[in-house]
Amino acid sequence: MESKTGKVKNLSRRSFLKFFGGASLAGVSLNLAGCGQPITAEKAVGGNGWMPTQYNEPGSWPTNVRGRVPIDPANPSIIRDDQKCILCGQCIEVCEKIQSVFGNYELPIKSEIVCVNCGQCIQWCPSGAISERDDINKVLKAIADPNITVVVQTAPATRIGLGEEFGMPIGTNVQGKQVAALRKLGFDVIFDTNFTADLTIMEEGTELVKRVKGELHHPTPQFTSCCPGWVKFVEYFYPDLIPNLSTAKSPQQMEGTLMKTYYAEKQNVDPKKIFSVAIMPCTAKKFECQRPEMTSARKELNDSNVTPDVDVVLTTKELARMIKRAGIDFTSLPDDEYDQLMGTGTGAGAIFGTTGGVMEAAARSAYYLITGQQPPASLWELTPVRGMEGVKEAAVNIPGFGSVKVAVISGLANARKVMDQIRAGNAPWVFIEVMACPGGCQYGGGQPRASSPPSDEVRNRRAASLYKIDTNAKLRNSHDNPQIKQVYADFLTAPMSEKAEELLHTHYISRAEALVAKKSERNLY
Ligand code: SF4
Ligand code: SF4
Repeated sequence: MESKTGKVKNLSRRSFLKFFGGASLAGVSLNLAGCGQPITAEKAVGGNGWMPTQYNEPGSWPTNVRGRVPIDPANPSIIRDDQKCILCGQCIEVCEKIQSVFGNYELPIKSEIVCVNCGQCIQWCPSGAISERDDINKVLKAIADPNITVVVQTAPATRIGLGEEFGMPIGTNVQGKQVAALRKLGFDVIFDTNFTADLTIMEEGTELVKRVKGELHHPTPQFTSCCPGWVKFVEYFYPDLIPNLSTAKSPQQMEGTLMKTYYAEKQNVDPKKIFSVAIMPCTAKKFECQRPEMTSARKELNDSNVTPDVDVVLTTKELARMIKRAGIDFTSLPDDEYDQLMGTGTGAGAIFGTTGGVMEAAARSAYYLITGQQPPASLWELTPVRGMEGVKEAAVNIPGFGSVKVAVISGLANARKVMDQIRAGNAPWVFIEVMACPGGCQYGGGQPRASSPPSDEVRNRRAASLYKIDTNAKLRNSHDNPQIKQVYADFLTAPMSEKAEELLHTHYISRAEALVAKKSERNLY
């Protein structure tokens, strides 16, 4: 387990049982006990207890027991195969030290097992005991139904990770092969989440300008809101700072909403018969699509038979498994193109996939939104926000507006430090990008595991591939995307119009009552 000083210490069996036994005595409705109960292997999958069944026998323990994070069997993002768990404590190491979740609330557990669904424990688990919840069968069922139109979107970072599952070098851009594979698998329409990354910039950038000008009753600094693990972290630990979160939905949720409204209207497809799938580098996206707020199309169309904006999220690794099971020779596939209407993204949309990318994209378009002028070339390479440092800062000079201070954070323990600074009133920044996973989405919980634990060498190679897509792009500013101009002209009217607010913005909830925060430990990291 993790000690208060951040060091992992070995536990005797006696102290381990004492520690977790305290939690199980809390009488929470979830089955946390596990110890001593005969649990079948099938039941144990999903992490049914504190103790894997195979270690119930005296003398059966591994030599270096360090404990493990609790995982709710109903967690929508991650599961644990108890039979593979060696109690090594790596999941505690990352969850507490890198993500500052486990260990940052008082035990016994109050009402739920606190988890932000980031999936970094998958990347750190040496035995492969933790993995993403597998939702492949739901998608196969929809594809097999001739009455359903299955529309899929692919996130910026999946194209530079998927190839690794097929033996290709780290960071290889397989965008065209990914589209070709999705078509072979039977998806009817294939869109690019880079399109709604650009749309997010238009909405979030407009919101930022309004906040700074005092036209919204929302404070600065404005936080990005496209990372669902980060959003949930704020909801658990910093509910007083929820008003700082941008109300703009994530690109995934914007694309799902538009599939069932804009696309359905344009193509005359019944929204009730659209099944929306998102291929993501992220396990928290599985949680995000199930949030009750994420049913904007249903509300807009006033039809309870319309399913959630995004029906299923598959990770990059799940997509790789689908491709392998279908016997598709991925590396030999000729490149294919996204379908249009929502299939074009700019270089700015592409770099959403790495830490600092959202900030760079936002800086380019904020400059345009404020001055009406195209951004200078210096904003096409905002080097202070590039790289794998956990906290980065930059100042962006905008004529007539002055110097705008911004910060970029990845890894939630880093975010905790900055959030404490904001609470203390010491925040010089106007806009802050936060990604829960160190390095951003390119090494999210759903990406291929190139090294364990994840290394900056791999992160940098994947990031370089995304920056190359941006550098080579014909269009590098979100506001220049012709399909973004079209969606506003034909459907949404303008950024933050009434319709855009209804379809593309959301609200958040406090989850603080689910835990007792460990106030005394906030400044340990
Ligand atoms: S990292 Fe994996 S093997 Fe190690 S304790 Fe956690 S779940 Fe078990
Ligand atoms: S998904 Fe993230 S928050 Fe949840 S247990 Fe794993 S590391 Fe911790």
